[in-house]
Amino acid sequence: MDNKDNCTNCKYRHTPRIICQECGSKNTISYYDGPVLIIKCKNCNWSVAGASFYSPCELDREPKYQVKIAKEITEKNDILVISRSCGINILEVKSCLEKDKVLPNKFPLDKIIKLYKTFNEMNIDIEVLPDLTYSKIGECKKWME
Ligand SMILES: [Zn+2]
Ligand SMILES: [Zn+2]
Repeated sequence: MDNKDNCTNCKYRHTPRIICQECGSKNTISYYDGPVLIIKCKNCNWSVAGASFYSPCELDREPKYQVKIAKEITEKNDILVISRSCGINILEVKSCLEKDKVLPNKFPLDKIIKLYKTFNEMNIDIEVLPDLTYSKIGECKKWME
């Protein structure tokens, strides 16, 4: 297991509880509008837009993740899905499947998550290389649509 978990500090997991700077009430709501933290007081209607926050999962934009197909693929349609969703031609997909099953393309995190969902729907098991250091990415509000 990787000891670094990028989901621990994800802003989409816990929005901070903030005391109203106007009336001191704890009865505030806070939420993110994009990267900006908005705080509103239910007691006195004070509101403020805080600084910009970015979570590790939002900053992870480097195309560094690869897909490893983790099961035997025999269906033509599965090969098509892999080819289309990863942008690799069919012959190349076939030759990958005969070798180590690691697809040549490198993808950023957001694309890897989309691929994960696509393959999951098709019952194609994949592994992501290197391991994702996001234990809760499946629950992250940023990625749920
Ligand atoms: Zn996150
Ligand atoms: Zn207030």
